Formats: sequence, structure tokens, C-alpha cells
Amino acid sequence: MNGHIFHAIGIERLRVINDGEGITTLVAGYGCPLRCQYCLNPQCFEMPKPVHSYSVEEMIREVSVDDLYFQATGGGVVFGGGEPLLQADFIHAFRKQAPKEWKIYLESSLAVKEEELLKVIRDIDFFLIDIKDMNEEIYERYSGKKPDLMRCNLKLLAERGLQDKVTIRLPLIAGFNTDKNRAESEELLREMGFSSFDRFSYAVKKALDKRREIGA
Ligand code: SF4
Repeated sequence: MNGHIFHAIGIERLRVINDGEGITTLVAGYGCPLRCQYCLNPQCFEMPKPVHSYSVEEMIREVSVDDLYFQATGGGVVFGGGEPLLQADFIHAFRKQAPKEWKIYLESSLAVKEEELLKVIRDIDFFLIDIKDMNEEIYERYSGKKPDLMRCNLKLLAERGLQDKVTIRLPLIAGFNTDKNRAESEELLREMGFSSFDRFSYAVKKALDKRREIGA
């Protein structure tokens, strides 16, 4: 036992389409510093009762059930959330102990201090980054926080030359940004050397229904 514990809101097996290559298991972490208006996982804001907590060994045992799929397809484990970088020490310890063949993906908004990203920057095979919007006013209105941490961490990824390991999600956020804003974000990101983008629209109704359902 190394003492690191991961608090999870859920584990989803056998994901094929959404995350990277191969078959993956999504491990969704508790907690997020942002409060996005159309968040699809608002249950991560409050510590669930009972919370699912895993040591590194327990998590490896839990996801090992799909080891054969991971090895055969080049897949692995996706740390998402919530914001998984709030539990960066665990992810680092997991990488050290998990089979080397498993890929480790990170789905993050990067809204954490740089030191958290630095803990895992060399452990992650592929980053899926949801930046919301690069425009400060839009970002703050939508997420409740300023974009400084996100921008600083994006810069760090770019300075490390990791652009080829990053896909950036560029959402169209009804009532908050427009196609033009999104194109402006993309232009800024291209100037930083990023070239892989996932453009999509947020599922507004689904998100609002979910928030109402759990009273968030
Ligand atoms: S970053 Fe993700 S989990 Fe956090 S509030 Fe926004 S949508 Fe929800």
C-alpha cells in the first residue's frame, strides 16, 4: 500500500468511441473546481454517500477485468471526472504500478494549479482537454472561474512540445459562445501549436434535466 486513495463517482467499462484508441475504462473522479452551467456530472460537486474509494492496488484489481481488451486493442484507463487532476498523486502512483501496456488518458479542464499537472505530465499517453472557450469573459460566465489556470497549463503542455498528445474539445455553448468565438479560440490554440480539435455542441437539455434531478 502506498497510501494514495482515489475518490470516484463512477467507473464505466468497455468504452470504444469517446476516448482515444482501443477499449478503455473511464474512472470518474470526485470534485471539480469549476461550476459549468451545462455540467453533465454535477453529482461530482458533493462527496457522494457512500463514496467509492480505491487504493492503487484496488483500482488496478477493479479495472484488470478488462486487461485482455486493453492489451489487444491498445486501450487502457481514462481518468475523468469531475476534475481528475485534483487526484494527481493517485494517477501518478497508478501509472507506476499498472501494467506498462495500459495506456493512460486524461480528460481534464486543466483548471488546477500547474504543480498538479506537473505531477502526471509524463505519465499521460493522451490528453483530452475541454477548454470551454479561450475568451476570458465567456469562460468566466460559463464556468464561474477565470481561465488563468487553464491557460497556464495549456502553455505548459505547448512548451513541453506535447501538442501531438493533445486533443482539445471546442464546445459550442448555447447562450454563451458562438461559432465565431469558437473559431477565435481555435486560432489562438493553433498559434500555440495545437492541431487536433473536437468540435461539438453541449447537450443543454440533458444537463439541465440532470441538475434538476439531483437538485444541483
Ligand atoms: S469541468 Fe466538467 S465536471 Fe467540472 S463543472 Fe465543468 S463540465 Fe462539470
